[in-house]
Amino acid sequence: MARFDYDVVVLGSGMAGSLLGILCRAIGLRVLLVEKGDHPRFSIGESVGGEVLRRLDFLARRYDVPLLRNLSSYTRIKRAGLPIATWPKVHGSFIHHELGKRVDPGHLEEIMAQASTWPLGPDAHLYRPDSDLFLKNQAVEAGATYLPHTEALSYCFHPEAGASIELRPRGTAPRTVTCRLLVDATGPARWLAHHLGIDRVDSAAVPMASSTIFAHFRNARSWEDVCGGRRLVFPRDHGTLLHVGAIGQFWVIPFDNGITSLGWVTGNPLPADGTPEELFWNALHQYPSLADQFRDAEAVTRYYRIDRLQYSTAQVAGDGWFLLPASAEFSDPLYSVGIPLMLAAITRLMLCLEQVDREKAVLATDLADLERRFRLESEYIRKYTVATKRCFLDFGLLNRAINLYRSVIFREGGYIDDSDPGAAYAAAFAVDDPGVRRLIDAFYRCVMDIDFSVPISEATRQHFDRVIRSADVDGFLDSAWGKLRTDAVYVNSIPRMVDYFWKARHGPLGLGKMGGFRRISRRWLNSFADALPFGKHDAKPLPPGLIRDQLRAMVML
Ligand SMILES: Cc1cc2nc3c(=O)[nH]c(=O)nc-3n(C[C@H](O)[C@H](O)[C@H](O)COP(=O)(O)OP(=O)(O)OC[C@H]3O[C@@H](n4cnc5c(N)ncnc54)[C@H](O)[C@@H]3O)c2cc1C
Repeated sequence: MARFDYDVVVLGSGMAGSLLGILCRAIGLRVLLVEKGDHPRFSIGESVGGEVLRRLDFLARRYDVPLLRNLSSYTRIKRAGLPIATWPKVHGSFIHHELGKRVDPGHLEEIMAQASTWPLGPDAHLYRPDSDLFLKNQAVEAGATYLPHTEALSYCFHPEAGASIELRPRGTAPRTVTCRLLVDATGPARWLAHHLGIDRVDSAAVPMASSTIFAHFRNARSWEDVCGGRRLVFPRDHGTLLHVGAIGQFWVIPFDNGITSLGWVTGNPLPADGTPEELFWNALHQYPSLADQFRDAEAVTRYYRIDRLQYSTAQVAGDGWFLLPASAEFSDPLYSVGIPLMLAAITRLMLCLEQVDREKAVLATDLADLERRFRLESEYIRKYTVATKRCFLDFGLLNRAINLYRSVIFREGGYIDDSDPGAAYAAAFAVDDPGVRRLIDAFYRCVMDIDFSVPISEATRQHFDRVIRSADVDGFLDSAWGKLRTDAVYVNSIPRMVDYFWKARHGPLGLGKMGGFRRISRRWLNSFADALPFGKHDAKPLPPGLIRDQLRAMVML
């Protein structure tokens, strides 16, 4: 007879909790998945990039769960016919706006970088009500016990009895279950951190502040039509668009069910007066071209308002418990790092659970290194985000900031080799690497020293370039770095492209590490517009030529 009712109890059946449930079942652990509400339900965190693709691929292979591979890119979601509204994230782009002015079609201040390449990519937007329902169902199919509408009441730990959690399923009397490990995947609700009194929301814990208002809309127009710029090899609407300027960023994330996610994040406190809807539209009108894209749109959800996005905890792990990233710390959605951090933490937790004694409770000492790596990831992503946001005030610096991110943090483009779980265990975005940290520190310090209350001079931008170059002692800056031009897009280099093709069929080749992105002049990248609907699963036909555009980008290299 087993000593514990379950090996793992997971609180929260969002993407993180359900994924963990699926993986724990794959190694034969007994899992209880506890959910306060039920599915489908609204959730945010919809843009995923190459890091997610690589980690889902790794987890799918290591634990023999092919469905995770199907979830890892737009092409695969479509090919497998998953019941998830999605959209091709062919690129991630920043568009700079001056307050109160329409963008100038002849001089668009935009920075476009290609995401993962077909046939592995493109990356995807995930409509979370669908994807979270799908994952929860898969966890149940894999043998996890699912308790919806259940309230957690208390938690305690005893070295012999393990973790005990008192639960009250709706309409029944409270009952206590024991387990080797309680994992908190309640996201921003962070039940366990509140319960243990380790929640921290003070500005010392996360030294930045931002607020947000967001909703889902129908009938958004196409940005390509609204901005009036020349057609590029990537249709502008086939990606995650971030519209940035002095009042912060708006994200635009479309899905193929006709819904578009639009949200505003600002570093200024939200006024106390006014409904979320009024505040949102007042802000949107500060970027008139973007407001034009949504002029006929109607909200299909309420307007969600969060006054302070940042939170943290004094601890991430203890005897018998572990917090997944969204329950442990959050800084800002700018670089879409929530799901990559979630997967990095889940990967490390799985590698740990494979090794610890299955007869014993999981202890803080087993999890100490997971905490250390997560803190490192959080610290460096936050620094990068804080500094990038300051650069919203000057397009020249913003261009450099984004290119540094593309060149250094996304540079590996690599495949996580199954024979080297150490690579999967490492911190996300390569921040284990002292050379990467040195560059991020240099970037952060340099930007924090700049006085943004006066117009930025060319001399300041050149100073920035010198600082970054001198911090790059390991040669991370790729061939595109330093040739910063606004009339260019950044596409994957030939070695990286070959790597993508090879590993789609055969596994790792490792060439992705040799080359990052290349800069391509926009003169090369114009106007090929005839329609090729992508596939039978699309709820609505896609705008023209996804695969053809990807192929053309490669031929042009
Ligand atoms: C504005 C914003 C935009 C973002 N955009 C992105 C993005 O583009 N890309 C990206 O990668 N990340 C993004 N993120 C981060 C992303 O949302 C999170 O990383 C991700 O949703 C976390 O998933 P989760 O499953 O851990 O939590 P959630 O999706 O929040 O799920 C938590 C689950 O726990 C349940 N729950 C809550 N309390 C309890 C309880 N007491 N007991 C039991 N169950 C409970 C909830 O009902 C829910 O089902 C964004 C975050 C914000 C705030």
